Amino acid sequence: MAELSFETLTFRTTKDELVITLLNICNTKIPKEEVEAIAPFTLSDNHTMVFDKIDQEKASTKFSFLLTKYFDSLKNILTGNKVTYIHRNSGIPLIGNVAFGIVYRGSSIIEIKPVTSCNLDCVYCSISEGLSSKKNDFIIEKEYLIEELEKLVKFIDEPVEIHIGVQGEPFLYSDMEGLIADLQAMENVRTISIDTNGTILNKDKIDRLAKNNKLQVNLSLDAINEEEARKIAGVKTYNVKHVKEVISYASQKLKVIVAPVLVQGFNDEELEEIIKFVKSLPVQPILGIQNFLRYKTGRNPGKEMSWEKFYSLLEELEKKHQIKLKLQKEDFNIKETKELSKPFKEGDIVKAVIKCPDRFPNSSIAVSGERSISIPNCQFKKDKKVSVKIARDKHNIFVGKLV
Ligand code: SF4
Repeated sequence: MAELSFETLTFRTTKDELVITLLNICNTKIPKEEVEAIAPFTLSDNHTMVFDKIDQEKASTKFSFLLTKYFDSLKNILTGNKVTYIHRNSGIPLIGNVAFGIVYRGSSIIEIKPVTSCNLDCVYCSISEGLSSKKNDFIIEKEYLIEELEKLVKFIDEPVEIHIGVQGEPFLYSDMEGLIADLQAMENVRTISIDTNGTILNKDKIDRLAKNNKLQVNLSLDAINEEEARKIAGVKTYNVKHVKEVISYASQKLKVIVAPVLVQGFNDEELEEIIKFVKSLPVQPILGIQNFLRYKTGRNPGKEMSWEKFYSLLEELEKKHQIKLKLQKEDFNIKETKELSKPFKEGDIVKAVIKCPDRFPNSSIAVSGERSISIPNCQFKKDKKVSVKIARDKHNIFVGKLV
């Protein structure tokens, strides 16, 4: 008999299939007959498979083979989009891509991105993320992310902030609390900041998160009026009342920044209501209003407000409501740090191997040494060897063209 247990996987069976859910966000289906070909099996609990008449080692090897095969067809449970699982044995480095892994721009803020995907569909989303997204998603094994981050933090060798700023909602990553606890334990990590829409936080989760005294939570709140809030969030089920409760409770337990995005024509009237709400809380969080900016890859529902107009509006509101709204660079404590060398530069031609699809349709990610390279207009063909001309190398984020 063999017993295989997996913390990050949950199992259930249907008539013909074994359905495997990874980190609560994506799943894949294996025909039962292929699993039974290993040996007759049962599920002793959601995370454990028990195979009859086979030894542990054989069952483990054979089942790993099936997992590898069917993880190529992982699908996002929210959207049905394809998901790539990046783990220690995936052969995909965590530096090189702007959407997942580690982004280090030579400053004391390192961005980490363990997941892509969002449960909202905001009208102004700068990366067009959310329930209507058709992009490929990524999810990263927590241990792999921590291992690679530790190497970078050691290299930088001075206190840093880790910013969890994902293309989507970070708390969809079911290992998020564990990830934050691991970051909290890292000596040279001074601050951990996270951007969230707050929809899947609750009091219990906040109580657990509050054990990490380095954590700062940046919460979105774009309107107080329920209908306006739903319109901006792009989903009918968005519950601004819940998000307000989350903000109120979290502010009493953690450092919180409330971060509305001002989108002309959508929430101009709501700004003052947000200010009044923030001022009414038992512990007042910081309010950091952001100006909506148009992005090539974003949903662009309105016009940008000029910076001049934006800052004079903030000044006016500051005076009227006696509240600080203009946050300065010093508020974020950012400084330049050691440069990370680039293994190749713009114009170089490098040999690489295609490993997985990139975010957009008809684009792939190739790997060369310890970096990944995005290749637009490149059909995904797993393990194909290619030559790539590097077209962008800024901050160790690489984009290339097939040659
Ligand atoms: S919550 Fe953030 S990532 Fe999600 S759709 Fe809105 S802006 Fe985009």
